[in-house]
This record gives sequence, structure tokens and C-alpha cells, in this order.
Amino acid sequence: MFKKILIANRGEIALRIQRACREMGIQAVVVYSEADREAKYVKLAEEAVCIGPAASAQSYLHMPSIISAAEVTDAEAIHPGYGFLSENADFAERVEKSGFKFIGPTPESIRMMGDKVSAKQAMIKAGVPCVPGSEGELPDDPAQVRRIAKSVGYPVIIKAAGGGGGRGMRVVHTEAALIHAVQTTKAEAGAAFGNPAVYMEKFLSNPRHIEIQVMADHFKNAVYLGERDCSMQRRHQKIIEEGPAPGILRKLIDKIGERCAAACKRIGYRGAGTFEFLYENGEFYFIEMNTRVQVEHPVTELITGVDIVKTQIMVAAGEKLPFTQRQIAVKGHAIECRINAEDPFSFVPSPGRITMWHAPGGPGVRVDSHVYTNYFVPPNYDSMVGKIIVYGDTREQAIARMRIALSETLVEGIHTNIPLHRELMVDAKFMSGGTNIHYLEEWIAARKR
Ligand code: ADP
Repeated sequence: MFKKILIANRGEIALRIQRACREMGIQAVVVYSEADREAKYVKLAEEAVCIGPAASAQSYLHMPSIISAAEVTDAEAIHPGYGFLSENADFAERVEKSGFKFIGPTPESIRMMGDKVSAKQAMIKAGVPCVPGSEGELPDDPAQVRRIAKSVGYPVIIKAAGGGGGRGMRVVHTEAALIHAVQTTKAEAGAAFGNPAVYMEKFLSNPRHIEIQVMADHFKNAVYLGERDCSMQRRHQKIIEEGPAPGILRKLIDKIGERCAAACKRIGYRGAGTFEFLYENGEFYFIEMNTRVQVEHPVTELITGVDIVKTQIMVAAGEKLPFTQRQIAVKGHAIECRINAEDPFSFVPSPGRITMWHAPGGPGVRVDSHVYTNYFVPPNYDSMVGKIIVYGDTREQAIARMRIALSETLVEGIHTNIPLHRELMVDAKFMSGGTNIHYLEEWIAARKR
């Protein structure tokens, strides 16, 4: 096992990885930008290296600074967390070339899945069902693009091959709007992701977002760890995640889960990964694979008992998966609410000094957060300040516990979306389960202040 790991991330996930290291008797080195000097994960670390100014490009995204931090601290492996460099194949390659282990899949896997066009092609080959659409990148010829859209059928969605984080997508309802939408998405994709390639999918009208967590090792063992329902989204970004997905037969989940595990074996995948699907009328359609630990991983940890971050580290160190598919059983129900520093009505980010932070507790309540009373939320990064995750024997119990947890949570000095979560936990449609990906947006539009 590794003696020392460098954590190339910030915020709650830096703390989460640090906790896994502690449990495993591994020393953790953290890195931080000048804006994160006061962060909890830095204060708790035995070793911390400042890697640059607040701007991500000069710190958390700056590969040479991170690699030299690993060199000066004699770390053996680098955990990238999520976001930042976690899905950057060039980074994974540079880490390995510099003599460190990258805690994640191979650069080839990251590259294949990072391009959504090649990811879809690989999945079609592996027998994983995909959203119907263009057979690859859209051609330049407008006549051909129109023909493809016609055969796919309107509405369609134009998506950037290199897109992520809910950006680089445009829905098109009519032929008249098609070519302009393709051109704008291309221009945006080129600027934002350095890759102007776009592709087309049928825009599903009322799907749910269901994803399968997988874990694989170097020995071609691959296991799926149940599913998460992440349909509660705003602007294609997840706000609430839960598992298992309400109302979907275990038989169906097992069938798609087995396909995902088989696909992992086929492409030589290793480490943690997530296959994201849209689910409509009893069918799953693959949309993309995330080749890293996800924000919502605790949901799966609570319902399977598997520690995903520890398993990632074990696999990277060359160990076999400590469980087989038959040993994995989904038990109970878990829900996660993402707590963002933002206005609960306008969603405008609300960075600043937290004058009071009181986290909830009690049976079945887990809080993953890096903030504390008197912590200053820097304006430079993602607005998520923590996650509340609850577990219950049933979905009803989990919702009840989430209501209590949210009522106990006190945050002063900044705005958060806690009021939004409180309202959603008593919403009749959410309570009955199975809402689709448009539900939250519609709910927000109809909400009265
Ligand atoms: P990203 O990598 O930016 O997260 P995804 O491909 O995972 O992009 O899509 C994010 C979200 O966008 C999905 O969860 C879903 O809400 C919506 N979406 C993507 N593709 C489609 C589609 N074909 N039809 C309807 N909604 C879609």
C-alpha cells in the first residue's frame, strides 16, 4: 500500500479523500491556492503545499505545480478527486510519466470517455443501449445535418463531444432553428472545451437520469454498485441524488448493471466510474461515462456499505477488488442534498464569510463539508459548500430524516439553497418519487415566493 498520497483537489472532496487516507494509515498531502489557506482540509492536514494564486488555471489546474508538490513531498500517488484535472487524460499521463500512480483509470480510458462521441461508439460496440442520434460527429454540410435531424426526429439536442458540467448543449425543436444552433454550439464548444466537434441526439421529452456506479481492478474484475437517481436537476446540474431509484425494478437495474460491468472488462477499465443513462418508458439510454469519483458517491456508500474512495486507492495500488458482484447488495435508501452558497430564489452565487455554521446530526445523517463558522467561501470556485446525506430503511424514513437534518442546519452570513431543499422534501410529487429531469425546473418556474 502507498505510504503517502497527494490530493490534487480542494473543498469537501479533499477532506473526504484525506479521511480515507487516515483510515488506511496513509499520509495525505494536500495542496491549496492562496484563496484556500483557511480551508478545513488544509488545517487538518499534516502536510500542505501552496500551489499558486486563487485562479484555478494557476493552481488546481496547473499541472507542473501539482506534480512538483508531489515531488517535494515524496508522495507516491495522486488522487484527483472530481472536477479540475480528474478527467484530464494528459494529466493522468504526466502523473504516471513523472513516476507517480494516478488514482483513476488509464489515460486511454479517460480519453475514450472524455470524448462523448467515441464513448458512445465504444458503448454501442459493448452492447450498452444509447440515445438514438447521429452516428458520430456532425458533418459540416448543412444539408446532411438537416437529413440526420429529420431521421432522428425533432426535438433534437446538439451536444459538444468534449462537453461536461451541463454545458455545451442546445435543444432544437424545428428545422428552421437547426443550423444556427449547431453553429453556435460548435463555436461555444471550441472556446470552452478546445474541441468544436458536436453530435446530435434525440431530445427525450420526460426521461429520468439514472446512473450506475462501477468499480473495476487491474485483474479484469468489474462490479456494479447499484444505481442513483439524479433527476432533480437545475440547468442540467444535479441538486438532489438518491438511491435506489424509486419504482424501477431491480431486475432492470441488474440487467443494465451487468452490461456496464461487462463493458468495463471489455475496455480494460479500472477504478471507480459512472455510466450515466436517461431512462424513459422502461428503457435505458447511455449518455456518458464519468471516469472519476462523483459528488454523489456517498449515496452508493450508504446503500451498499462499500467505501468508494478507499476502494479507488486499493485498486490504484494494484490490489484486487475486495468484493465480488455476489457480495454486493443494495439495502435501505439514501438521499443527498447538495448545499450551495447561492440565493435560494435567484440562484445567484453567495460567497463570503460564514458567521455561523451548525451541521445536523442524529441517526442516519452524514455531512461531508469543508466549511465551519468563520470560514470565508471564496468566490473563485464552485458554489457547493457541503452535502447532507441521509440513510433510512425506507425512502419515507430517509425523507423524514432529511427534513429533520435540514431543519437542524444553521448557516448564517451567506445565502444557501437550504430553503429550496426544505420545500422539496415536503413536495407531493418528489415524495411520491420518480420525477423526471424537467420536474425541478418546472417546479421552480411555478414556485411562489
Ligand atoms: P454533462 O457531461 O454536461 O453532464 P450529459 O450528457 O451527462 O452532460 O447530460 C447532462 C444532462 O442533460 C442529463 O442529465 C439530462 O438532464 C440532459 N440531457 C442530456 N442529453 C439529453 C437527451 N438526449 N435528451 C434529454 N435530455 C438530455
